[in-house]
Amino acid sequence: MKTHNIKSTNFNNTNDISNQIYKDHKKFIFPCVLNYYQKPIIIKKAKNLTITDINNKEYLDFFGGIVTISLNHCNDELNKNIIKQINTLGHTSTLYITNNAINVAKQLSKLTPGQSKKCFFSNSGTEANETAIMLAKIYTQCNDIIALRHGYSGRSQLTTDITGNKSWKLLDTITPGIKHAHAPYCYRCPMKLTYPACNLQCAHDIKELIETATCGKIAAFLAEPIQGVGGFIVPPDDYFQTAIKIIRNYGGVFICDEVQTGLGRTGKFWLGIEHNNINPEIITMAKGLANGFPAAVTIADTKIANVFTGLSISTFGGNPISMAAINSTLNIIQKENLLYKSFKLGNYFLNAIKEMQIHNKFIGDVRGKGLMLAIELVENKLTKEPSPHKTNLLMEYCKNEGILLGKGGLYNNVIRIAPPMLISKNDIDFALKKIEISLNKIQ
Ligand code: PMP
Repeated sequence: MKTHNIKSTNFNNTNDISNQIYKDHKKFIFPCVLNYYQKPIIIKKAKNLTITDINNKEYLDFFGGIVTISLNHCNDELNKNIIKQINTLGHTSTLYITNNAINVAKQLSKLTPGQSKKCFFSNSGTEANETAIMLAKIYTQCNDIIALRHGYSGRSQLTTDITGNKSWKLLDTITPGIKHAHAPYCYRCPMKLTYPACNLQCAHDIKELIETATCGKIAAFLAEPIQGVGGFIVPPDDYFQTAIKIIRNYGGVFICDEVQTGLGRTGKFWLGIEHNNINPEIITMAKGLANGFPAAVTIADTKIANVFTGLSISTFGGNPISMAAINSTLNIIQKENLLYKSFKLGNYFLNAIKEMQIHNKFIGDVRGKGLMLAIELVENKLTKEPSPHKTNLLMEYCKNEGILLGKGGLYNNVIRIAPPMLISKNDIDFALKKIEISLNKIQ
């Protein structure tokens, strides 16, 4: 078992109220709960794109509460519906039926690819993935799971075992039967090849992985359409077609983790995997599903869901308030045409950052789909040496300019951008200007 060297936050040089809150945070909250920034922001309130801290400084949120605010903060219409729901019915448990959960399940079944679907509601991405893996094992009567390096699946023992990033594995791996395939990370190809000349060696290698590291039959392949925590790693367009064909040849089902990529985040489609024209047998969603309210879902083909017959309960799963939040989020995404907006504005944003890359010495890679964009920072474009230092500087400088960004990647050198989708071109232009000013300060 290993221990982690957790860098504590610098809580010095802050004003009195902030100081007391920092102290209390340190005293009462587990130290594994880390915050961004040298002086972490203490948030008082948020509206639309704007976050206000306790000193009344305002920031524009370009990370959307870790890719979770699909619409915007404290959305009026959503809040109205939730308040109405709180005053009508707040909790039942799944021992009783509510039409709220059935109505949401119906909508989710319709918007996911494939014919007939069933849903299991829970409260976090971790739980949704736990449910998906349990279901895949029951359905296939197999144990082995193929996961991807650089992936992130959650914070439980099983999902940290599946996660392919040492920073998020606090315990030794104890779950048997998990094999990590190479990630389709073209900028840092694990095989030192170049797409498309590589002929997708990373995907084809899954065949050898299964044949050499398992008994030749597997339960599932779990993967994110774009690896979120990994640094918004976008696989080549044909990666999933090749990988999934292999997986199905060996009896496995595809668990598609849409926790970050779902709900239009990648533009054009409800799900990230729809860009790849694949119908996953099992889909998990959380984060943006309820615009920041705790709700998650595992959606499975009916014939697979139907084998989940033993007793399994999530006390808060399908909670009427969470269901109202999902219902409103889905309605507003449709009404505001956010799938298209995410695609259009995302392309605009991506192209503008690519322009910046041309004249910048430290932007190694720019990638993304829809409003899920990444800037990978390096010390040197030729050697591609990761630069967590410059990444931290960019985060800090942008914060000082009033723009909040996210961070990720195995080497902590990837800036993640995922603003609320109810954003305007003007907001994006404003952020671009601030990002450029901040980049120019970095030597
Ligand atoms: N899957 C993915 C792809 C995620 O990004 C996350 C959260 N970062 C999870 C699962 C786990 O979700 P939660 O934190 O809600 O448990």
